[in-house]
Amino acid sequence: MTELLVKNACVIDPLRSINAETMDIAIRDGRIVEEVSGAAEVIDVHGMLTMPGGVDSHTHICGTKVNFGRYMSPEDMRAGRTPRRGPLHATSGYSVPTTYGNSYRYSVMGYTTLLEGAMAPLEARHTHEEFIYTPLQDTMANTLFDGNWGIMEAIRDGDTKRVAAIIAWTLRAVKGFGVKLTNPGGTEAWQWGKNVSCIRDPVPYFEVTPAEIIRKVIEANELLHLPHSVHLHANNLGTPGNYTCTLGSMGLVPDLNKKRQTLYATHVQFHAYGGSGWPDFCSKSEPIANFVNMRPQIVMDMGQVMFGRTTTMTADGPMEFNLYRLHHEKWSNHDVELETGSGIIPVIYRRKNLVNSIMWAIGLELALLTESPWQCLLTTDNPNGAPFV
Ligand SMILES: [Zn+2]
Repeated sequence: MTELLVKNACVIDPLRSINAETMDIAIRDGRIVEEVSGAAEVIDVHGMLTMPGGVDSHTHICGTKVNFGRYMSPEDMRAGRTPRRGPLHATSGYSVPTTYGNSYRYSVMGYTTLLEGAMAPLEARHTHEEFIYTPLQDTMANTLFDGNWGIMEAIRDGDTKRVAAIIAWTLRAVKGFGVKLTNPGGTEAWQWGKNVSCIRDPVPYFEVTPAEIIRKVIEANELLHLPHSVHLHANNLGTPGNYTCTLGSMGLVPDLNKKRQTLYATHVQFHAYGGSGWPDFCSKSEPIANFVNMRPQIVMDMGQVMFGRTTTMTADGPMEFNLYRLHHEKWSNHDVELETGSGIIPVIYRRKNLVNSIMWAIGLELALLTESPWQCLLTTDNPNGAPFV
């Protein structure tokens, strides 16, 4: 039995309506209890905030594409060096730090749980190896199914149970947490040098649409009662006018069970754009937030942009190619055969750039316009919108 007494804590706990009250917290074997014995270890935290551990529900910290980001940017690795101190390892890197760098910096900010946004099944081993060296947080990974040949064939045959069976087998085999769809169908089209523009375009060869993939995978996810809903990076990321595609995707959420969350829409800032091109680019956060306000089954995260240098990385290969054509920066693209893809390029978000400034505002607008704070979570899609720090 281990006992701990955290004294003089300034506690903030929204679930219990405790707002900055000074109190003592007794902990036995990792659980909060009424009281502990006199033998308990005492920590005086006078003058510090005590809150539930933070959860970053969409971040890229471990796995192959994160490591590619490190290879590609030696200048980034030099940017954030810290020396070894006692039990703490030396760290390096700013937008894509080493695993210890990520872990320590998240700890300083109070984060205890991290959800890696995208793990390709074939590359799961590397992700778990890096989790082992991320010592201070609980870690888990969304598993990519957006271009999965077996799943698209099952969808073409209208066989939801087979979709569920493939998901169940794969999650067990790769020790994945949730189901991730990144540009569903688009990552497969990318193998043919193509993309899908929205949810009604057929995927080459398979002749299923992103809409069918999203709907069937949500049904399979609910059939399996997985702990997390389908985690969707919608089609057409980062394109002016893409908000209609985002609303169409959110409209696919079936009323299977109104009480349960059935869709997690990620980094929605990148999917809330109006206009027909960059000259008339504008925010469409309002219709998106209004839609989410009417659908308790949907949760989204912000994907907030901050100004400065960072590294973008995603399974959305065709999107990264478009970004390369815009920025002409270093660029990497990768095909994970039969499953998904990925791409990486470094970018700089500038406050004097009109588009970047509007992007910055859109993330904040989404959070401010969403009525339930449980339905719009703070993320930077680390490091895509900005490094989490
Ligand atoms: Zn992401």
